[in-house]
Amino acid sequence: MFVPVIEGEAFAHPVGKIVCVGRNYAEHAKELNNPVPSAPILFIKPADAAVALAPSFAIPADQGSVHHELEIAVLIGSRLRAADEHEVAAAIAGVGLGLDLTLRDVQARLKEKGHPWEVAKAFDGACPLTEFLRADKVADWQAIALQLTRNGDRQQQGNSGDMLFPVLPLIAHMSRIFTLNPGDVIMTGTPAGVGPLQSGDELSLQLTVTAGAQLSSHTRVE
Ligand code: ZN
Repeated sequence: MFVPVIEGEAFAHPVGKIVCVGRNYAEHAKELNNPVPSAPILFIKPADAAVALAPSFAIPADQGSVHHELEIAVLIGSRLRAADEHEVAAAIAGVGLGLDLTLRDVQARLKEKGHPWEVAKAFDGACPLTEFLRADKVADWQAIALQLTRNGDRQQQGNSGDMLFPVLPLIAHMSRIFTLNPGDVIMTGTPAGVGPLQSGDELSLQLTVTAGAQLSSHTRVE
């Protein structure tokens, strides 16, 4: 059970499910030779995928390459079912960063056979999460910057303004398929620059919501 932290305080609910969107930035779809989707590609990671990102997290050994996908993570604070964008905005408790860890070689084999992705993306520990900032810090959901450096090199850099499916309508869409409950987390897709992690890597993650509302996290891959 993983309890999210919002600005130093434990949230009232543990993480439930994690609803994710694939290929939400055109540049990332291109780098993996995937078509740009016309509707959001959704998948779920279960509660046990959620772990603390810092001070370190573990990656599976002996399963081929484990890719980092840096994503804006949205923490749901109240129940949403078939919600509109205004209801979604009012129900969000926090914004942070997560890594959608992906067993890329395993995923490639599954995709080739047309099989589901869960084994590659929904395993225990597949979603390390930072602390969250309070959602009232967000003035514009489509002007949030995110960045990942790995061993001092900038690996991923993006801005939510480049999303194919913007945050509030995306979550409204999700809520028509899956009821969202307090503690659920939305992973909003990764910008370009995904790549493999190695044990011993040092990672720095940065989220800039506004000039006065930033979050940075440093961690080590076990
Ligand atoms: Zn992802």
